Amino acid sequence: QSKLQLVDKHIGVFPDFPKKGILFRDICPLLKDPAALTASIDLFEEHVKKNYPQVEFIVGLDARGFLFGPLLAQRLGIGFILVRKKGKLPGSTVSVAYELEYGTAEVEIQEDAVAPGQKVLLIDDLLATGGTLFAACELMRKQQAEVLGCMVVIELKELNGKDRLKPHSVFSLVRY
Ligand code: 5GP
Repeated sequence: QSKLQLVDKHIGVFPDFPKKGILFRDICPLLKDPAALTASIDLFEEHVKKNYPQVEFIVGLDARGFLFGPLLAQRLGIGFILVRKKGKLPGSTVSVAYELEYGTAEVEIQEDAVAPGQKVLLIDDLLATGGTLFAACELMRKQQAEVLGCMVVIELKELNGKDRLKPHSVFSLVRY
C-alpha cells in the first residue's frame, strides 16, 4: 500500500467531539504507528525537497504542529520554531489575535525567532477554517519573514481554509 494510504488508515474519527455536531479527526493512531508516522514525514519531506529547497525554518503551531514539525525539520537539516498560544513563551514576544467561534485567541512567537527575509514553511496537524494558520502567517508577516507555504496532515475541504490562506499555498496529505 502507498504511504498516503498508510497515513489515511491511521486517522481516527470521532463524532460530536469536542461538542455536538463536530466530526473530530484524531491523529493519535498515526503517532502510535511508527510506519505510518514515518510515511507522513516522508511525504512532507518529499514535498519540501521538490518545491521548497530554499526553506530555512519549519514553523510549527501549538500544539499538534509540534508533533510533526521537529521530525520534518530534522530530516531537512534545518531548525524548528514554535508558534505558541499566548503566555507560554519567555522573553520579548510578538502576538496576533484571531477569532474563534466564541471569542478570540492569540498566538505568539519570540521576537527574535525569525529575521526579516528568512524563508519559512508552516506546519499544523489539521486545516479547518484556516484561522489558526492565518494568524501564524500574520506573525511571520509582522517579522518580515517570507512564508513559502503551509502544510497540514489533514485538510477539511468544506470549511474552505485554503481560500482563507490565499495567496499562501497549502499542502495536505489527506483531505476529507
Ligand atoms: P482552524 O483554525 O483552521 O479553524 O482550526 C485548525 C486548528 O484547530 C488546528 O490547530 C487543529 O489542531 C485544531 N482542530 C480543529 N478541528 C480539528 C480536528 O477535527 N482534529 C484535530 N486533530 N484538530 C482539529
